[in-house]
Amino acid sequence: RYANLAGVFSMADASGVAITSIHGSPVLSFGVAYQTSAGRRVFAGAYAMSETALPAVLGSVLSSTGWQAYLVDIHGGLLTGVSSGGPQASTLAHADPLLWAAERRAPDGAYDSPEGKQYHVTAPVAGTTWRIVLRDPEAQLFTFLNGAGRWLAWLALAGLAVAGLAIVILFTRLQGRRAQLIRLNTELARLAAVDPLTGLRNRRAIGEYLYDAVSAARRHDHSLSVLVVDIDHFKSINDTLGHRTGDAVLEHTARVLDGALRTEDAIGRWGGEEFLVVLPNTDEGGALRATERLRDALAGDQPDEARSHRLPVTITIGVAEWHHDEMDELVSRADSALYLGKAAGRDTVQVSRPMHGVAEPI
Ligand code: GH3
Ligand code: MG
Ligand code: MG
Repeated sequence: RYANLAGVFSMADASGVAITSIHGSPVLSFGVAYQTSAGRRVFAGAYAMSETALPAVLGSVLSSTGWQAYLVDIHGGLLTGVSSGGPQASTLAHADPLLWAAERRAPDGAYDSPEGKQYHVTAPVAGTTWRIVLRDPEAQLFTFLNGAGRWLAWLALAGLAVAGLAIVILFTRLQGRRAQLIRLNTELARLAAVDPLTGLRNRRAIGEYLYDAVSAARRHDHSLSVLVVDIDHFKSINDTLGHRTGDAVLEHTARVLDGALRTEDAIGRWGGEEFLVVLPNTDEGGALRATERLRDALAGDQPDEARSHRLPVTITIGVAEWHHDEMDELVSRADSALYLGKAAGRDTVQVSRPMHGVAEPI
């Protein structure tokens, strides 16, 4: 009565379990023979593979569409099959003999079918003599590259690129603003420290320089000297040549004095036509040599306007070497020496010596 059971006993498989088919649908058949007083009896049965959990397991192996998955026994018998969203693959299997022909040629590979190129892979099911055969259309296999997914991917990439670009632009702008701010700050700091007429340090900047120089001299026990330089009879230069030419003379004098100093020395505009020179690491002797350089430089490089009017531009210089006194006191001593120089007839140098409390002519 049951043709499928005939196979159970004819197979080498001693378990008495066989995969056979009923009307083309795979069934798992089993049969156990036993003796009774009435003779040999068989306890037998069968159930459809499609009603087991296997199709569900197979169904979960691929996420694309259009695929087919089969469980096949060692004899090539189809245990069960499933296709994505389609009918049970038991019928499909037979409808796609190309797959089995391809699978016979090689467990993994590709073949052409009327529905397009198909890829197939075969994998053994561990612990059994069964194998799983998967068939997936090429169009689906590369769906991410070919289908709408491709646009999604590009869209995501484009989105990322745009976001990245926006960040780069924002960052660049921010950097630009920052650089601009730094430039402005630097410029502001420079403007705040520079005398606009002469381009020298202004009173505040040269004062700061002197403050630092006094601190350094104290810390390292170095020598330090200052000069207060004042243009002689500048008022009459102004009166004779006009204020504007006076400005030019002032500017010229500043440039000449600045050029005659060593790089580590600093000069700033201390007042109207008065300059403060800071000479780090310089004792009185060195300071006097500096005054000579300044006077010589100016004598050798007179402003054109003054020369043409036979108005020599000369300077009087007050010198003070630092003797561990405060900065204001140091400048004040140089100032006093300058005052003495003016009193002594100008175009000269006077040195302040704290030991004697008075400035002395040299
Ligand atoms: P002394 O030899 O005693 O220093 O005489 P002086 O005329 O140079 O000194 P005084 O202090 O009497 O006059 C300084 C003059 O410098 C007066 C002032 O108008 C002028 N002065 C100050 N600053 C400037 C400036 O920026 N430009 C011009 N053109 N003149 C200035
Ligand atoms: Mg003067
Ligand atoms: Mg003056």
